[in-house]
Amino acid sequence: MALYITGHKIPDSDSICSAIAVAYLKNTLGIEAVACKQGDINPETRFILEKFGFDEPITKTSYARCDTFITDTTDLALCPDDILDANVVGVVDHHKLGDLTTSSPLEAWIRPVGCSNTIVKEMFDYYGVSIPKNLAGIMTCAILSDTVIFKSPTCTKEDTKAVKELAKIAGIDNPKELGMEMFKIKSAVLGSSIRELVMRDFKDFNMSGTKVGIGQLEVVDLSIFDNMKDELLKDLETLRVEGDRNSVLLLLTDIMKEGSELLISSLDISKIEKAFDKKSVDSKMWLDGVLSRKKQVVPFLEKVFK
Ligand code: MN
Ligand code: MN
Repeated sequence: MALYITGHKIPDSDSICSAIAVAYLKNTLGIEAVACKQGDINPETRFILEKFGFDEPITKTSYARCDTFITDTTDLALCPDDILDANVVGVVDHHKLGDLTTSSPLEAWIRPVGCSNTIVKEMFDYYGVSIPKNLAGIMTCAILSDTVIFKSPTCTKEDTKAVKELAKIAGIDNPKELGMEMFKIKSAVLGSSIRELVMRDFKDFNMSGTKVGIGQLEVVDLSIFDNMKDELLKDLETLRVEGDRNSVLLLLTDIMKEGSELLISSLDISKIEKAFDKKSVDSKMWLDGVLSRKKQVVPFLEKVFK
């Protein structure tokens, strides 16, 4: 039986590229492995896969009784629904430790770095397996995406080192330039519905029993949202009620100004204000310097919902 490799629900470039990279590594080590995804890829990921000539991983949402390797999360809410019925043989991740448990010992590659692909690069080095040129290309892009071209406070020396080495293998002369090209594609919002935008990079969190959904859109210029904020807020409200969530938040991140505007729908907005020690105006607040959901948003919300 093959080993299935998958990243989190609503896959981003890190989830997709790490699944492809781990599948390649496992196959090279003699373990038949298949890269999977739990949902449709986003426009940025499509650009990356096309640029380096990769097919999309297969879509697979059920893993019961399957040997499975999880990348880019250990949160049950983001894993396949039946993951506790799967045989999880390994994880590679760079988030807070989640609530996934296993019934057998597993291989765990978890580090506080900016991207799962940085850790996957360390896995290749550990096994002494060389990385093909096109694979190095998508791994480079995933790290540039997750670290917001090295600007995110989650970015570490390990990430910049990994990009340096991977870009060299891939023949990418100017990784930052490629990063900007990617973020311009990521910034394209025209042609997408309001709901598609809210859901493009959306994660549900279980905060001490309280369900909180947080989306993020990273763009090079926030002004593209100027005429959309009322509609976005309205949809956050709908999504909150539909999913029986306490709060739904959307981070509109300006990667050039290096900060985020937070749009809020909440049963208790004072909790959100307390988390960031800031008053909201018309269900919005500007968070200066905030680029990272996992490091600058989630921990502060978890504290107030404890
Ligand atoms: Mn991710
Ligand atoms: Mn990631």
